[in-house]
Amino acid sequence: MIGQAVRLEAVSKTYGRGAYAVTALNNVSVTIPRGTFTAVMGPSGSGKSTFLHCAAGLDQPTSGSVKIADQELTGMDETELTHLRRQRVGFVFQAFNLVPALTVRQNVTLPLRLARQRADRGWLEEILHSVGLSGRADHRPAQLSGGQQQRVAIARALITRPDVIFGDEPTGALDTVTAKEILTLLRGCVDEDGQTVVLVTHDPVAASYAHRVLFLADGHIVDYADNPTADQVAERMTHLGAWA
Ligand code: ADP
Ligand code: MG
Repeated sequence: MIGQAVRLEAVSKTYGRGAYAVTALNNVSVTIPRGTFTAVMGPSGSGKSTFLHCAAGLDQPTSGSVKIADQELTGMDETELTHLRRQRVGFVFQAFNLVPALTVRQNVTLPLRLARQRADRGWLEEILHSVGLSGRADHRPAQLSGGQQQRVAIARALITRPDVIFGDEPTGALDTVTAKEILTLLRGCVDEDGQTVVLVTHDPVAASYAHRVLFLADGHIVDYADNPTADQVAERMTHLGAWA
């Protein structure tokens, strides 16, 4: 099926065993269509990061099935998963995770070097331009603002032309103006380049950039909203007891 970027079917994830077992995801099924922006919201501890890690092939569910671009992740060994992540998936985290000793250009092309692929010069320039860093290619992370560093991380996520970009609170460490720039950039990946973005956030404004917001509570998807405003998202979060 061409239309789906990510598909989770009856995915559960339990950490630990016996008395220490925590069920972080409980029988979650969802389809994320290609070319859409999905936000995942929920109270702290509701399973957002676990959802993202399972959906992105960073972690294996305890049961259930995960597909990215129609490839079944369940049963893949670590080598296969690594290959799939490198080919299909980009990540942006709250901590920018840049290599301090490398320049912007070197940081951005790192995933290609890890995959033993060549950086196409035109494509690199295009990516740097799209994140507004053309003039900073030879800078090191410490010479950049937080927002610029996160844009480097986004460029690094985009360089492999991934099907899906996963973000775990990528604007969590940024001021509101810079956060808006980053969200606009991610939305542009969807609207202009037809990529798929899945974003975990606790910020209703960030969620309002999404086509669909999934609400998680206690490891379940309990609700969703299509094209909500920030106020509508905040209202639903209040009903989930998130800010009680
Ligand atoms: P969120 O991102 O919504 O805050 P998480 O997915 O990080 O939620 O966590 C969901 C639940 O799983 C929480 O109860 C958390 O304590 C637990 N959990 C997450 N990761 C681990 C882990 N590696 N080991 C044990 N418990 C974990
Ligand atoms: Mg989390």
